[in-house]
Amino acid sequence: MRWGLGVLFSLTTWLNGQAQIDYHALRLAMVENQLMERDIYDRATLRAISKVPRHLFVPKEQQVYAYSDSPLPIGEKQTISQPYMVAYMTQAIKPKSTKKVLEIGTGSGYQAAVLAEIVDSVYTIEIIPELGKRAKKLLDDMEYGNVVTKIGDGYHGWEEHAPFDAIVVTAGAEEIPKPLIEQLKDGGRMIIPVGPHHGIRDLILLTKNRGKIKTKNMMSVRFVPFTRQ
Ligand code: SAH
Repeated sequence: MRWGLGVLFSLTTWLNGQAQIDYHALRLAMVENQLMERDIYDRATLRAISKVPRHLFVPKEQQVYAYSDSPLPIGEKQTISQPYMVAYMTQAIKPKSTKKVLEIGTGSGYQAAVLAEIVDSVYTIEIIPELGKRAKKLLDDMEYGNVVTKIGDGYHGWEEHAPFDAIVVTAGAEEIPKPLIEQLKDGGRMIIPVGPHHGIRDLILLTKNRGKIKTKNMMSVRFVPFTRQ
C-alpha cells in the first residue's frame, strides 16, 4: 500500500458528521511501509511499535499526522522523533536482552512507552518541566507502571538506579556525557546523536565490554539539542 493522503482517506469513516480515523490500521500500515520496508527487523521492536498508540502522544491538532514518516511538534519547541528513528534506536540497544534502560529526553513519553513494552524498567529524564509533567500523567493514565520519570538535566544520568543495561539519548549532544558512560553496565549499549549544536549529527552506538569503550557511527541525523540547566 502506498503511503499518502489516499491511505488516510480510505481509513477514515464518518459518524454523525465527525471523522473517525482508524488509527490502528494507520499504525499497522506505518510499521509495514516505514519500518519493515527499511531495516527494522527486530520482532520485539516491531511488536511494541504496532501496539503503542502514537497519536495519543501528540497534540490534538497533530493526531492525524501521528503515523506519517516525520517528526512532529509536541510544544515547548520540541519534537517527537520520526517513527523510524524511534524504531531504529530501540532496535539498536537489542531491547529483548535488556532489563533496565535509561532514556534522556522524555519529551512526549512515546519512546519511553515503546521501550516499556519490551524491557523490565525504564527510567526517563526530561529537562523541560511542562513536558516532563505531561508525559508522566499520560504514562500513568496508560498504566505504564514500569516507567519512572524525573525532571532534571539528564547530563548527570540517574546515579541511584545505575548501572543501566542500555541508555537511549533522544536529544542531540555535542559530546557523550561522561556520567552516562560511567552508568552504563559492562556489556551494555548506548545510542546517542552527537555533533555540533543545531547541525547534522552522527548517531553513535557506544558499547562497553570489559571496561573498553567502542563507538560506531550508524548514520547522519537531525535532533533537537541536548540543553543544560
Ligand atoms: N523521546 C522523546 C523525544 C523528545 S525530543 C519522545 O519520544 O517524544 C528530546 C527531548 O530532550 C526534549 O523534550 C528536550 O527538552 C529534552 N532534553 C534536552 N536536553 C535535555 C537534558 N539535558 N536532560 C533531559 N532532557 C533533555
